[in-house]
Amino acid sequence: MIQELIQIKESDSLDAVCARFGEFLGLNQPVKTNVMKRVLEDQLFAHDLISCRNTPGFLSVLLNDPVNNQYEVSHEVEDHSTLELTSRITKALINWGKAGFSKVDPKIYTKRMSACEGCSHFVEPPRKLIYKLIKKVNKEAKICNLCGCVASRKALLPSESCPAPHDKLPGMSKWEEPLQEN
Ligand code: SF4
Repeated sequence: MIQELIQIKESDSLDAVCARFGEFLGLNQPVKTNVMKRVLEDQLFAHDLISCRNTPGFLSVLLNDPVNNQYEVSHEVEDHSTLELTSRITKALINWGKAGFSKVDPKIYTKRMSACEGCSHFVEPPRKLIYKLIKKVNKEAKICNLCGCVASRKALLPSESCPAPHDKLPGMSKWEEPLQEN
């Protein structure tokens, strides 16, 4: 489980998370802050990094990807809402780790996304810096306004669930999966 391997705690500072993640990847140093921010916000990037764990050649390409520079955020602009979002994404990463860092079957992904596309909670992201950064990397950055997650990312992960009840199926979510307690 990633939580045990890198021992991320929600109360950890970003520096502590960088050090723990560097150790987890088999590096002799912490990962850079911008890489860690991208990991927290872009689970597909996280998936690629983790797949290349202990493979220095591949890791080096990912760690030096120029896109990582778009995740530099100065401390001056980091506000409470950004930290709150980061904490939610950290929780998602931990949950995803518990599910073994897998992705859902393409048919399930299509079904989930088709539910999101017909849902009133599927909206354009607010103009917060963190969402602008995500949108720079992923053109499809519409969010679910119930949880604040980028829907196209959330729908890929087996550990994620739709928080809204289905209109016609009791006990099921709009994704037609059992409704979870969030
Ligand atoms: S995750 Fe559920 S509530 Fe959120 S946009 Fe998708 S269908 Fe709607």
